[in-house]
Amino acid sequence: MSIDRRSIFFDLTRTKVLACGCVQPDAGRCVQCGICSHNCPLGLDVRAYAWRGIPITDSHCLTCGQCVARCPRGALEFVPLRPEA
Ligand code: SF4
Ligand code: SF4
Repeated sequence: MSIDRRSIFFDLTRTKVLACGCVQPDAGRCVQCGICSHNCPLGLDVRAYAWRGIPITDSHCLTCGQCVARCPRGALEFVPLRPEA
């Protein structure tokens, strides 16, 4: 049986991202336009998190970055859950 090494690399990288970071909103920069929520492939209410300024810790979040990339105000960023030692 052959093994797709690219798939293994992708899975290991993805696991590390999921374990180490989450999306953190800056409520002071958010204008509640809703573009982030509209572009979330899982339909998470990112705008609600941004309104409250709390990190997106929903276990369904894929950390795909769509909300971060689409926010016109730069109000979203990835932050490490545990800072590197
Ligand atoms: S896209 Fe940015 S500015 Fe718009 S609601 Fe989301 S976090 Fe706020
Ligand atoms: S990182 Fe992706 S899955 Fe997570 S809230 Fe943003 S758009 Fe949705």
